[in-house]
Amino acid sequence: MKLLSRNEPILAGSSISSLSPFIDEHGILRVGGRRSKAEISSNIKHPAIIPKKSHVASLLVRYFHEKAQHQGRLITEATLRNNGFWVIGAKRLVSSVIHKCVVCRKLRGKFQGQRMADLPSDRVTPGAPFTVVGVDVSGPCNIVARKTGGGLAESKRWAVLFTCLGTRAVHIEVIEDMSSSAFINALRRFLAIRGPVKEFRSDRETNFVGALEDIQAKGICVEAGPVKTHLQDSKIVWKFNPPHASHMDGVW
Ligand SMILES: [Zn+2]
Repeated sequence: MKLLSRNEPILAGSSISSLSPFIDEHGILRVGGRRSKAEISSNIKHPAIIPKKSHVASLLVRYFHEKAQHQGRLITEATLRNNGFWVIGAKRLVSSVIHKCVVCRKLRGKFQGQRMADLPSDRVTPGAPFTVVGVDVSGPCNIVARKTGGGLAESKRWAVLFTCLGTRAVHIEVIEDMSSSAFINALRRFLAIRGPVKEFRSDRETNFVGALEDIQAKGICVEAGPVKTHLQDSKIVWKFNPPHASHMDGVW
């Protein structure tokens, strides 16, 4: 500024020598550039030069970074320049301000991952296939069945899915309705093909639990009625997941 006020050329090694700077009527150092004949505001034509190590520079960058709604480096830099400020080494300063910005850290943060618990012993103990089995019922699927009269009739089918917790083998039985007797039949067909099972596991969906007899509803109920009797006779243990433990039955 001393050299410029005396109308002497500035040193070639200066960081602003390429900007052809001048001092305006208010004594502010501004970029000369080649745009003096452009019909835009003089503030943008000749931005004020701000040294990068000044507190003002970091305040300006922070202010315009917030004004640009916490956009990235390029947009923050452009906002700064469009408002008539030429910060020397703005690239680095803007990067470091964004790096320290709490809002940006939150917005661009990494999500935390879940660490899963140990597998239950049923999943890691070797044994005969279908020793411990996970069960669920899916459906209904609408199907078309051919009637003896020649006409077609729509009806529903459900699938009972059995999966071995040791080998992960899968067995599917189709049932014609959601009743205890249909389920017992599916269970007997499964056991006849795959051999004895020590333990069944299932979730607590309404398929398997609930006082069906009390409300006289049709459905499968493992805890009471004919299914329980059948399980007891076959010496099979039925284990339920805890309620709302949706992380526990990924296997089936
Ligand atoms: Zn930010």
